[in-house]
Amino acid sequence: MNFHIPTAMLLTAITTLIMGLSLAFTVTDYPRALQVPIRQWVRSLLVSPFAFLLFALRERIPDWASIVLANVLLIVSTTLLVQALRSYNRLGSLRAWSVANIVITLAAVSVMTYVWPSIAGRTLLVAGQLAVLFVFGIAAIYRPADQVTNPERMVASFLAVGVLVMILRMAYASDPLMTTLLDSTPMQSIVFTYGALMPVIATSGFLLMCGQRLNKDLARLATLDPLTEVFNRRTMTDLANKAVAASKRHGRPLSLLILDIDHFKRINDEFGHEAGDLALCRFVELVREMLRSSDVVARIGGEEFVVLLPDTAHASAAVLAERIRQHLHATEFTVSGWPVPLRVSIGVGSIGPEVSNLESLLREADHAMYEAKRTGRDRVVLAADLRGASKSESR
Ligand code: GH3
Ligand code: MG
Ligand code: MG
Repeated sequence: MNFHIPTAMLLTAITTLIMGLSLAFTVTDYPRALQVPIRQWVRSLLVSPFAFLLFALRERIPDWASIVLANVLLIVSTTLLVQALRSYNRLGSLRAWSVANIVITLAAVSVMTYVWPSIAGRTLLVAGQLAVLFVFGIAAIYRPADQVTNPERMVASFLAVGVLVMILRMAYASDPLMTTLLDSTPMQSIVFTYGALMPVIATSGFLLMCGQRLNKDLARLATLDPLTEVFNRRTMTDLANKAVAASKRHGRPLSLLILDIDHFKRINDEFGHEAGDLALCRFVELVREMLRSSDVVARIGGEEFVVLLPDTAHASAAVLAERIRQHLHATEFTVSGWPVPLRVSIGVGSIGPEVSNLESLLREADHAMYEAKRTGRDRVVLAADLRGASKSESR
């Protein structure tokens, strides 16, 4: 098979340019956080066709364009691709390192073209740099603690193949069959097949990555309260229903707290709505400090929260509620230097013989919380005590 390298490179240049332009027109359809990496990816796609075009014209245009400029553009385009992957995972830009790398490429390739012409030297340098950049790309994908998704794995694998191809190319840098870049040796065919597939496969993978990120963000928005980032009411209902079913199935205790911040309206009235928002976030932080990782916190109303306590009996839940209340007393919350007391009324309910579903559990805990409000606020009331009181009243 005769692999005609200039034709392959021209086709790659055209495909890449079309992909880059199409993506450029759709960037603004993505949420802001994804626009930065996608723009960098587009820049990479728009630079690389010029590199391929200049390589393809090797015999027809001067060396400074077809060798020096083409190699520099190839490194620029690959650097932009790595930057895109880094900003996708919110990593820094490595700008100084990238600029230094590009300047070194320019200087070294110029020397190996005009002072000591060496095609093997240039091959070693550029293939080595591409291999290093691909490794940086893989590292950017695997950096965050979050689970790596399948499209991310696909892009990383494709870059890993690139590292192997570049190492192979370095190993065969002084291929006696290759007198110019455009000779169709087996090694050249492998390198340029990879080069031709790279923009298409990597871009499809990158767009799939962005699609999954989008879905994940939407799912997060649908389950969390945007201000305090605890679960919203709907998610709490789902989780609590599951917890109630599990508690009944395994005969394990389950308790629930309803917390309502006392006189919260005053914070808004005296210090403004923003201070109120800060107070809500601080309140959640303080409550969380008292909880285990298996406990679930949810915001079910303006300044009303639920804490779901799996494997926790009524008495232990009461102790925890009291510890939360005291923790708020012990911690000072300030707005512009003014101390603002954060106090809470808590109702405690638990699954038991008289409370067997979520509705009655919530009703009981809510009832207890209102009793805490009624009897002076800043206190914990147990549903069990209310039940005891109403029984003795009815006797
Ligand atoms: P009580 O002790 O009886 O619970 O009194 P309260 O002032 O805490 O309760 P009330 O229900 O009278 O007022 C709750 C206030 O919470 C009214 C509302 O403006 C405010 N609020 C609800 N959601 C938010 C929010 O997201 N941010 C801020 N800053 N305020 C909120
Ligand atoms: Mg309140
Ligand atoms: Mg309230």
